[in-house]
Amino acid sequence: MTAKIIDGKQVAAQMRAELKDKVAQLKSKGITPGLAVILVGQDPASQSYVTAKEKACAEIGMHSDDNRLPAETTQEALLELIAHFNTDPKIHGILVQLPLPKHINEDQVLLAIDPNKDVDGFHPVNVGRMVVGQDAFLPCTPHGVIQLLLRSGVELAGAEVVIVGRSNIVGKPLANMLIQKSRTGNATVTVCHTRTKNIAEHTRRSDIVIAAAGRPNTITAEMVKDGVVIIDVGVNRVEDAAKKKGYRLVGDVDFPAVSQKASLITPVPGGVGPMTITMLLYNTVLSAEKTLKALSS
Ligand code: NAP
Repeated sequence: MTAKIIDGKQVAAQMRAELKDKVAQLKSKGITPGLAVILVGQDPASQSYVTAKEKACAEIGMHSDDNRLPAETTQEALLELIAHFNTDPKIHGILVQLPLPKHINEDQVLLAIDPNKDVDGFHPVNVGRMVVGQDAFLPCTPHGVIQLLLRSGVELAGAEVVIVGRSNIVGKPLANMLIQKSRTGNATVTVCHTRTKNIAEHTRRSDIVIAAAGRPNTITAEMVKDGVVIIDVGVNRVEDAAKKKGYRLVGDVDFPAVSQKASLITPVPGGVGPMTITMLLYNTVLSAEKTLKALSS
């Protein structure tokens, strides 16, 4: 079997077109969805993520408030800025780009964001709401994975899913979403990590394997069954002298071999990556819609 590619760029483009329409509708009712983007320091990867987020906002007609602060910004100053955006009616979502410099306590910063503007879905209030199945902003990468599966026609109800990785931003929330008693859940989920005794034993019986370990070749062809659906969240740099930059990006899955056995597979790049920013836009538009509803009730 040769796998069909799940094209993240295409799914993301379709969702962004849907969001653009929603933004136009909100604007016609007097609300322009607004995202405050805060970056502390000059980390090149963070700078490029932030630039991509601002560009994506502009492309669908949203407002973004760009805040690039020096690396020596104090925690107090950052908390003050967040407090300002918490009460700014033009802002419906606040994004603090992680990681933060070491002198700033990330947990305290995330706690300072109003849960109603926490479009990254990292605030414990949103995490708690998600776990108990209440209305919540869902974290962007795991939500993007679920949208890719649903929009590719993959049946989640009753599916055996293995997630490799248990981080707070990918593995844990994804496992929680997939076990919810809802259309976006109803799967039977196993979560593997570095203390799992025999990962292959779990992945071999899985209908869907989601790799989020951050290590190339974590999933090889011998570890999966024929017809498996593969979602590769990992993004890893491997040396490649043939490339101008001296490296190329690969996922956590041995793509050439696993794609011979899988029925569906995401590439890296071009799979999960484009969905993450899309879900950030989705949450900000959702927040603006909630504001409109509150204003009109
Ligand atoms: P993380 O915080 O480093 O967590 C990695 C998880 O994988 C940990 O739970 C770790 O287990 C587990 N793990 C690592 N090596 C393993 C192995 N050999 N076998 C089994 N489990 C293993 O990483 P993350 O933030 O979740 O990100 C994971 C990957 O996804 C990274 O490559 C990251 O760049 C990528 N990512 C992509 C996007 C996107 O938009 N495309 C977004 C977020 C992350 P322990 O808990 O036991 O240490």
